Amino acid sequence: MNEILSVDDLVVEYNRDGTKVRAVAGVDLRLEKGEILGLVGESGCGKSTLGKAIVGILGAAEGEVIFDGLPVKKLTRGKRPEHFRNLQMVFQDPYGSLNPRRKIGAQVIDGLVIGGMHRSKALARAQELLATVGLPADALGRFPHQFSGGQRQRIAIARALAASASVLIADEPISALDTSSQAQVSNLLVNLVHELSVGMVFISHDLSIVRRISDRVAVMYLGKIVETGTVEQIWESPAHPYTKALIAAIPHADGRSSMPADLPGDVPNPMSPPSGCRFHPRCPLAMPECAVVEPEFVTLADNRQVACHLQKAGQEPVSLELIPRVPAS
Ligand code: SF4
Repeated sequence: MNEILSVDDLVVEYNRDGTKVRAVAGVDLRLEKGEILGLVGESGCGKSTLGKAIVGILGAAEGEVIFDGLPVKKLTRGKRPEHFRNLQMVFQDPYGSLNPRRKIGAQVIDGLVIGGMHRSKALARAQELLATVGLPADALGRFPHQFSGGQRQRIAIARALAASASVLIADEPISALDTSSQAQVSNLLVNLVHELSVGMVFISHDLSIVRRISDRVAVMYLGKIVETGTVEQIWESPAHPYTKALIAAIPHADGRSSMPADLPGDVPNPMSPPSGCRFHPRCPLAMPECAVVEPEFVTLADNRQVACHLQKAGQEPVSLELIPRVPAS
């Protein structure tokens, strides 16, 4: 099996005004080597929090992250730094993750030396890594402010590779870049994933780019994954009403978006999530049981997973087009 990362029933909580808020409310995910998993959902649904919990920046209240066959919780303190070096996060703002006062070479070499490489070899390897991400060798002697946003993101990726990352959690890595840099950096990430057999969770609000580069997609709503499937399944025949609404929200060629018509209301407050199915107050297909019973995350006959009472484990997905829409009261 090529599985490199799994997340089992992960819960991440924070405290707001004395109330415990579950930003991630029991998430299961799988990632294989050489695979790109797109993670999508509206702003505030918990995508970034989930990413930070996977790489250990945030602690999990419950559940488990298993990386390369090892449950992170069971690692000894001594083993943890090495373990987390292999799980690297690429952030939206690469400038914030680079030290503005240190030359790029020193920052890339750090990861190699910490990983056990002798300094004499690390310089040559750093040059190779910069070439891999499309930067000239003289970049080693320059400071972060001497690069464009797209180049800084390339440096951040080179630094992650210097740490021997086998999983990248890329959190909106191209959303702050101009259009041409977006295409270049996303193509670079796809090539690296496939050539180096790195697994990548690609967190983005841009569904068009997720569709273009991902192998599979996980859809998140209010702290929970509601559907995972291949790009084709998610786009051609979504099995969860939220997935359907999200896909419909992609702007048309004329700039229109059908989101407001298909999905009334705002994302509920995570401090007091709705009972039953968290999506029921906004779901055009909600039934009485949806407000009471939380749907299980089940695997359908076509191998996708979904949490909706309309879909049954082991059966072919029911087309949402055939289900009568319940008028909003
Ligand atoms: Fe809609 Fe009910 Fe399915 Fe939730 S469980 S998505 S409310 S139909």
